[in-house]
Amino acid sequence: MLRCPVCKKKLMLSPTMRVGTLIGCVNCDNTLQVVGRAPDKIEAVAQSATHNADSKPESYA
Ligand SMILES: [Zn+2]
Repeated sequence: MLRCPVCKKKLMLSPTMRVGTLIGCVNCDNTLQVVGRAPDKIEAVAQSATHNADSKPESYA
């Protein structure tokens, strides 16, 4: 059984999720990344990293 590395809530990974998939913990809302399958392994992703990845390019004035 996987547990959220942040809040320790039990989590289930979908069989279709592959290494590198980002998921959100349903309990603590932290962003987690699948880092291994069989056995399943997840790590918390730094908030700043996710913000950078999701940020839109600044529009030029
Ligand atoms: Zn959590």
